[in-house]
Amino acid sequence: MNKLIHLLRLGISYEIMHDIILSYPPFQYTIEPTNACNLACTFCPQSNPAHVSIRPKGYLKPGNFLQFLNKVKEVQPGNRNLNLTLDGEPFVNPHFLELVKIAIENKFFPIFGTNGVLLNKEKANELIAIGPFRASIDFASDEIIFETIRGKKGDFGVVRENLLNLMILAKSNSNIHIDIHDITSFSGADPALSLARMRQLFPQKLPSRIRFYSRKFHNFCGHLNYERSKFKYRLCPYPWTQMAVTYSGDCVACCRDTAARSVFGNVFQSSLMTIWNNEAYQQFRQNLLLQCPDLNAACKECDLPRSGHESRWNPIYVAHSLLGR
Ligand code: SF4
Repeated sequence: MNKLIHLLRLGISYEIMHDIILSYPPFQYTIEPTNACNLACTFCPQSNPAHVSIRPKGYLKPGNFLQFLNKVKEVQPGNRNLNLTLDGEPFVNPHFLELVKIAIENKFFPIFGTNGVLLNKEKANELIAIGPFRASIDFASDEIIFETIRGKKGDFGVVRENLLNLMILAKSNSNIHIDIHDITSFSGADPALSLARMRQLFPQKLPSRIRFYSRKFHNFCGHLNYERSKFKYRLCPYPWTQMAVTYSGDCVACCRDTAARSVFGNVFQSSLMTIWNNEAYQQFRQNLLLQCPDLNAACKECDLPRSGHESRWNPIYVAHSLLGR
């Protein structure tokens, strides 16, 4: 399907018709390489000891991944970006590079979030030899804050070295796209000032494929001690836009449902469109349309429907996330 036609149909169903049965397939796809992580950052649900016992640790198998991609290809989405992140650290899956290779061989553009600790020179060289990718990596302007938040001494130096190596490689290799997010503001630091300080830690002349941002933190699992926002309710677009899948094939509410609180079916057992429009998914959309997110297990503690004041709802941000790579 043409990308713009796909987006047009999505926009009409979500914004105008408020459909609960969708005539188009999901536009974005997220699949989890693993729910295991080598860190336990304080801003992440992984830091909650209860979180890691909710689902058994597991790893996406290359065969199952290919099975999923074949199902995605069958529905012919207008978008070939493929997000390889949900819960956990992708590089903890011993087959992660093979997953990236399979994605590229099937003409998808892999995007993933990583803490960068395991992305050493050897892994970086293997990765860039496979093909183009975008990695989103958290860093900080302050070593002590970084290691306090991430809970492991020495990791600031490790991640900085790995990032510097990727930057050197990126000068001559257009396969590398990196978004570096400053997490310092989680400690209360001024985001703009901290971002400028973090930028100083790296070479000034870099390809435009390397971008720097200030990380925004979201209370999607009720894991952060944030006061519930009182901003006007806005309809969450994810159930009209994306399909998120765990390593075991369970289709969950969205990329924020890391605890798999709302499961609609299993993509290794059913077709994507059967899951996308089944009764559970329809009811889930209906609850959000009725402004009752609390009726959805996944949405109960999520701050997204009342985050209307944030830049994520800005049309430029939305266009960038839907159309960009
Ligand atoms: S409200 Fe939150 S948990 Fe529910 S679908 Fe939207 S982003 Fe996901």
